[in-house]
Amino acid sequence: MNIYADHAATTRMSQTAIDAMLPYMSQCYGNPSSLHTVGQKANEALTQARERIAACLGCDAREITFTSGGSEADNQAIISAARLGEKKGKKHIISTAFEHHAVLHTLKKLEKEGFAVTLLDVHENGMVSAQQVEAAIRPDTCLVTVMFANNEIGSVQPIAEIGAVCRSKGVLFHTDAVQAAGHLHIDVVSQQIDMLSLSAHKFHGPKGCGVLYARKGIRLTNLIEGGAQERGKRAGTENIPGIMGMAAALEEACAHIDENAARLIPLRDKLIAGLSAIPHSALNGDPVNRLPSNVNFCFEGIEGESLLLLLDDKGICASSGSACTSGSLDPSHVLLAIGRVHDVAHGSLRLSLGEDITEEEIDYLIRSVTEVVAYLRRMSPVWRDLQSGKRAFILK
Ligand SMILES: *Cc1c(COP(=O)(O)O)cnc(C)c1O
Repeated sequence: MNIYADHAATTRMSQTAIDAMLPYMSQCYGNPSSLHTVGQKANEALTQARERIAACLGCDAREITFTSGGSEADNQAIISAARLGEKKGKKHIISTAFEHHAVLHTLKKLEKEGFAVTLLDVHENGMVSAQQVEAAIRPDTCLVTVMFANNEIGSVQPIAEIGAVCRSKGVLFHTDAVQAAGHLHIDVVSQQIDMLSLSAHKFHGPKGCGVLYARKGIRLTNLIEGGAQERGKRAGTENIPGIMGMAAALEEACAHIDENAARLIPLRDKLIAGLSAIPHSALNGDPVNRLPSNVNFCFEGIEGESLLLLLDDKGICASSGSACTSGSLDPSHVLLAIGRVHDVAHGSLRLSLGEDITEEEIDYLIRSVTEVVAYLRRMSPVWRDLQSGKRAFILK
């Protein structure tokens, strides 16, 4: 059996997205900035894609800026808010300890420039609260940035409540919605979101294509200098095929959110129940406020990397955390943020399911992970010490 269970890292493009892109690589190849017919055709497509994406988010087409992906959108949102803030002498930013590195590293850069950054603690169930945000807001706070859903442990944050707190305090609110877009309902008006990032390749669209939504009146700082594309806020000829594929993929995903969730949640919960039966294991993230596709566990006494390699031999593509940190030996900052100690955090496994997963595949995942964990524990000196009582178990 071959199971791709790493949809939080990236997804396969849908046929709808591919079909939407192809004409813009062949017949309709114009540059939207050109005044001739071929260019104007591309420009019309761009306008239409912007409107379709805006409709999925509940915003106006003029509030959409196309970017090269989620990372660029996160960078631009945060830098823009920082530049607006510093003009008013406001140089304090609130975020959380378990954001994506596109957010955390941008905040690090701003700290070096003299900004103060408060990273909220994440509760052991993977949640931050609107009360925590409210308590952290200071007179000089210019931005709150909290992710919609976490990419490793799948916990879904109380975005509308945080939005309401920020709006009432007059502080800009950005959310990295890369894991949420196309999977959870987003409405920037009712959720009171000022800025939002999304990335096409996380919802069956193409890689290298994303969106930054910024509410009307929020002046963006351009990260890339050049031509006047995207109202002068993001230079460079637009990636028309990518944008068309992204619009089609987002519409398709948004049309099936409830149906996909209804199918996935029972399968996800069956997988969680199956893996919970492994002794000395623990689910990471909230069992209820959780992406329908996400399962993340820690298994004591093993190395996540060995687990991944042996699962790969069984045809299962999984991850130990985010693709961005794999390859480094540091345990995941997300697992550390929810209070997992190093030894436990090292034995982590993330299975992020596709909408088309079947019950047989769930059974195969449970069987395979159970077998591989038992096999690795038999070989592990750490496990031997735990068994003999030389070392105390951390997970019950
Ligand atoms: C994947 C991801 C990103 C980065 O998006 P890219 O389009 O790959 O740059 C940012 N934030 C989160 C939460 C992600 O999962």
